[in-house]
Amino acid sequence: MPFKALLLTNQPTFSARVATLLETELPAGDVLLRVSHSSLNYKDALALSNRGPVVRAWPMVPGIDAAGVVETSTHARFRPGDVLMVQGWGLGETRWGGLAQRVRLPGEWLLPVPAPFGAFEAAALGTAGYTAALCVQALLGHGLRPTDGPVLVSGASGGVGSLAVLLLARNGFAVTALSGKTTAWTYLETLGAAEVLHRDGFASPGKPLQKERFAGVVDTLGSHVLANACAQVCRGGAVAACGLAMDMDLPASVAPFILRGITLYGIDSVQTPISRRQAAWDLLARHVVPADLAGMCRTVGLTLAPLEAGHQLAGEITGRIVVDVNR
Ligand code: NDP
Repeated sequence: MPFKALLLTNQPTFSARVATLLETELPAGDVLLRVSHSSLNYKDALALSNRGPVVRAWPMVPGIDAAGVVETSTHARFRPGDVLMVQGWGLGETRWGGLAQRVRLPGEWLLPVPAPFGAFEAAALGTAGYTAALCVQALLGHGLRPTDGPVLVSGASGGVGSLAVLLLARNGFAVTALSGKTTAWTYLETLGAAEVLHRDGFASPGKPLQKERFAGVVDTLGSHVLANACAQVCRGGAVAACGLAMDMDLPASVAPFILRGITLYGIDSVQTPISRRQAAWDLLARHVVPADLAGMCRTVGLTLAPLEAGHQLAGEITGRIVVDVNR
């Protein structure tokens, strides 16, 4: 059966275009998913713009997220008609991914879309939501409680940031949202931020130890923002670092670690075992309702995805971009 997919090629030069592919061209796997929705994550934006070493096999169907209905399955847990989702596992990097009407996968990578969500919400949350949940779980697992003090979220108007703000606020934390967009401040307050700060105050080199302000941090930016955030964490606090939207470096001092006993948790969503994924999605399902996502998302078709990717890398997007692969 033919289906539509975004296809990235690097011969003779890089191109990103909508192509018609055949199901027989898909990689082996025991579940064939009829994808309805995917999304644009920062990594997808890098791949669609040919920036950064995201794509490691060519040609590539990008898309680190997918949600849809099982078309065929030889996997014991899944039957045709089941509504499933997948995030990470190298999709869109080493294996054809979700920006397509079909994806074929090993069944052990898939999870049922949890109530109260459908395929749209599974993609709207997608890797961003699930990563935000992993970050919040790291802080909760560290023992942080709302009475310990505020939690800083950087890149707050982006996908991971927005959902981290929402989840932390719903868990009773006072959230300080750090953003470069003054236009997003009302949006961030609507998500539950108690305070919004401008990113500029964190974006330059700072002192190794600064005033203790935050019990915890969810950082999506890296570089000076992460270094300054660590320098402002209270004694015994914790930082969950998942991103590099500002840069990949970490120009920090060991002082907050050895003089205040703070802990830095690294978050990797790609190879997380399925039981931890399930727990992260359980957290999302407990605290997020579909109506929360309506005001946070914009939906585009496959054709517009490369254009939106450019805006995303320029830091111009607020919230999440859902891709309706049938549009
Ligand atoms: P988005 O593009 O949705 O959001 C990124 C946000 O970061 C922007 O909205 C903006 O927020 C800020 N930003 C963008 N560019 C810059 C810049 N040059 N300098 C400083 N701030 C910038 O991305 P996601 O939320 O999907 O991902 C965020 C980060 O987390 C990325 O680095 C991504 O690769 C990483 N990530 C990692 C995962 C993992 O498994 N470890 C999984 C998912 C994402 P504002 O204007 O509000 O400051």
